[in-house]
Amino acid sequence: PTMTTAEIRSTFLSFFEERGLKLYPSSSLVPDDPSLLLANAGMNQFKEFYQGKKTMKEIGACSCQKCVRTNDIDCIGEDGRHLSFFEMLGDFSFGGVSKQQACAWAFELITEKFKLPVDRLYFTVFTDDDETHDVWRSLGVAEDHISRLGEDDNFWAAGPTGPCGPCSEIYYDQGPEVGCGKPDCKPGCDCDRFLEFWNLVFTQFDRQEDGSMPELPHRNLDTGMGLERMAAILQHKSANYDGDLMQSLIALGEKISGKSYVADDYSGASRSLRIIADHARAVDFMISDGILPGNEGREYVLRRLLRRAVFHGRLLGIEDAFLTTFIDEVNRLMGEAYPELLKNVALVKGIVSAEEERFSQTLDNGRSYLDAAIAGLAEGAELPGEVAFKLHDTYGFPIDLTVEIAEAAGHEVDMAAFDACMTEQKERARAAANRDAWGDFNNVWTALSDKLAATEFRGYDEESCEAKV
Ligand code: ATP
Ligand code: MG
Ligand code: MG
Ligand code: MG
Repeated sequence: PTMTTAEIRSTFLSFFEERGLKLYPSSSLVPDDPSLLLANAGMNQFKEFYQGKKTMKEIGACSCQKCVRTNDIDCIGEDGRHLSFFEMLGDFSFGGVSKQQACAWAFELITEKFKLPVDRLYFTVFTDDDETHDVWRSLGVAEDHISRLGEDDNFWAAGPTGPCGPCSEIYYDQGPEVGCGKPDCKPGCDCDRFLEFWNLVFTQFDRQEDGSMPELPHRNLDTGMGLERMAAILQHKSANYDGDLMQSLIALGEKISGKSYVADDYSGASRSLRIIADHARAVDFMISDGILPGNEGREYVLRRLLRRAVFHGRLLGIEDAFLTTFIDEVNRLMGEAYPELLKNVALVKGIVSAEEERFSQTLDNGRSYLDAAIAGLAEGAELPGEVAFKLHDTYGFPIDLTVEIAEAAGHEVDMAAFDACMTEQKERARAAANRDAWGDFNNVWTALSDKLAATEFRGYDEESCEAKV
């Protein structure tokens, strides 16, 4: 029998509670930490325990943490393993649990409780971390299932300063039919075949402003397992989106749009259905944690996610407001695990509706202009790049949508001319970028990547997101 998302969550948490770790509820998506834009890992709420500023009487803690990661935004819908909002299961310790013990528990949980076949499991360790390598070997992991990865994958830091240390990741081999298909595909490859589902971080250093790395008061443990990833693995699906919970949201999108979802298709309608399911869920959680759509910081992240969901609704041919229907479904699916979702439903839906309405108005204005331009074209003629640019620049109308609508009417868009206009505009107004225009979309997402935010974020009161990075 396969486990549901809810069963995986409770199995993980009770496993660690039974071993003496204290269960902590998820913290809010709005971190109690000015250096962080949004909660993006289970360890966030334990930062002061790592630093030795707080102590607990138990040997450690466990949690299922709400996370939002903007650095993954560009992959959403296009690969099977990244979501903007996801749940991270974790066990944590501040000197009370040894590395050997932590790895032994991880191994026991995945092989005995989750019953993952050992021959599908792969382990990575940091370049020179022989100690962790030897621990996995002692637990029975074969030598050719352990590899070494460098700083990018296997060294973790909370930010420019603070707790950091080497990681060891656990991957599940989804088989050669999933992913890039290259013969040299291995853990760490940027495809979905070797799916990283658990990261064990041994935070033992405290990086200082001057770059030095003294040892922390104790050798700590910080682990993170993606719940949606584990759900997909245990339900024999190759993508996060195909587990029970996300599938209910995809199915709702199919129902509203009349379009069908194809699990292996990472383009077109399937991509849009994924994006809507993912973003709508993020929007519900963010607003329920008190974030409002706006033009700065996390408010801006929320606005972009919400608008991008609406935009993909249009791509699917949905003309009416639809987002609050998703809010109801997310609440139905997740309200039991996260009661905060059910506290202010009317307020959340009101905020969603107002923002959706506002953005729809923008889209409608652009649509009138575009329809008039198309009506003036000869049959089969290209839509001039200047028109597409004006839509983007003046109407805030996304280029993808212009292309989609023009193509449906039998016209290609002159993209070379559009790109030329974009380049010209960028050169004209690099510094004074209008953050409300859709054109900055990608720049802004890059700028808001949580890595950068964690590294460079200096406060919430500055003029623009760009200024912060
Ligand atoms: P990836 O390399 O796949 O982007 P990561 O190394 O950035 O993942 P970690 O920071 O190690 O992820 O987070 C711990 C775990 O959280 C990961 O092993 C994964 O299971 C899960 N996770 C991370 N990012 C996402 C995401 N965007 N969507 C779903 N699950 C995620
Ligand atoms: Mg990542
Ligand atoms: Mg990784
Ligand atoms: Mg990782």
